[in-house]
Amino acid sequence: MEVLWAPWRMSYILGNDKADGCIFCLATDGVGADNLVLGVGRSTLAMMNKYPYNNGHLLIAPKRHVAAIDELTEEESADLMANLALAKKALQTLMNPEGYNVGLNLGRVAGAGIEEHLHFHIVPRWGGDTNFMTVLGDVRSVPEHIEATCEKLRPFFKNIR
Ligand SMILES: [Zn+2]
Repeated sequence: MEVLWAPWRMSYILGNDKADGCIFCLATDGVGADNLVLGVGRSTLAMMNKYPYNNGHLLIAPKRHVAAIDELTEEESADLMANLALAKKALQTLMNPEGYNVGLNLGRVAGAGIEEHLHFHIVPRWGGDTNFMTVLGDVRSVPEHIEATCEKLRPFFKNIR
């Protein structure tokens, strides 16, 4: 079986998994990761995945550099869930997907590319896109440029919690 979220290994190879080069920590300033940041809330942030598995593949993370789900504060947990719902609503409005994969990869063995900074993936799905599990090891062609998608999604994250 191929490693889940394999493209994230690129960040690892490039040394971006260190706190001082952590894409999520950089994104807390509203910059970084080629400015794929969608919004920064009080304790969390949302950004596009630079290595998406489908058009509209988003990441929701706490602003704090924290790896373990049981180290999240109640506020962070609540904000993460609220922003997952916000992301789903935004994607639904903009792209009308038929389903979603939402989840966490905790630990390198589970496929986390940046295991030191916890982040939720939300991947919109359409009937006819490739089966999720067979997709993972492959290079996907994503029909819309990430930057274009980012620009369209950003207004929905004005009220990010
Ligand atoms: Zn970080």
